[in-house]
Amino acid sequence: MTELPPRLDIRRLYDRFDTPVTEFDCGTRCSPHNPSGKPFCCDICHAVPVAYRQEWDYLQRNTDLWHVWQGDECPTDPSDPAELRSQTPGHLLLLACQGPAHCQRQYRASSCRQFPFFPYVTSDYRFLGLAYEWDFEPMCWVISHLEAVTTAYWSEFVRVYDELFARWQTEFDSYAACSEDMRRHFAAQKRRIPLLHRNGGYYLISPASERMQRVTPERFRRFGPYQSES
Ligand code: SF4
Ligand code: SF4
Repeated sequence: MTELPPRLDIRRLYDRFDTPVTEFDCGTRCSPHNPSGKPFCCDICHAVPVAYRQEWDYLQRNTDLWHVWQGDECPTDPSDPAELRSQTPGHLLLLACQGPAHCQRQYRASSCRQFPFFPYVTSDYRFLGLAYEWDFEPMCWVISHLEAVTTAYWSEFVRVYDELFARWQTEFDSYAACSEDMRRHFAAQKRRIPLLHRNGGYYLISPASERMQRVTPERFRRFGPYQSES
């Protein structure tokens, strides 16, 4: 039986998920490496935001910041919009905003607030902590600097998703599938998965056995232009 999506108080969700990832504007660290000059996660040519359908109901009543993604927003991207639409779970909607020069922070979507992370779920269905969107390794400065993630953001993220998952099995299942994809990807590359654990520790997880090792953040790799930073 298909689960009915829960009614969500989106303003309350946004107010409880509002702490920045780092203590400074991390966009100043990545945008110099993007030819468009925009932070990668706010550049529609690199990242298409998603929102719950309940969020879209709220956003379109309260702001003109967003429109439903049409697939023609990035002039240099020749990919087929139908493909991305078909890969997007039914409880989510692809959106496009007016761009970082016109951002309205109070109306950022939940996908803006969670970026570059998603809730990592083990194969035995435990929400363990924060894993990152691995496609963005060469772009996102934060992914190369997990030590810069504030504890306030980290614990807020865990609390928000604990509350959501308690009410919404579909959302939990979609992150369980995403975590499975991540294990498959990292296993193929013979790499371990970096994790910000809900207990406040940094870990590396073996994708096959799911064995965890507690580490210091210096053990995490850096990527792309951030490898050569001092
Ligand atoms: S989260 Fe990553 S991609 Fe987004 S602004 Fe910060 S460093 Fe750039
Ligand atoms: S709403 Fe703001 S934070 Fe979200 S993608 Fe647009 S510019 Fe970036």
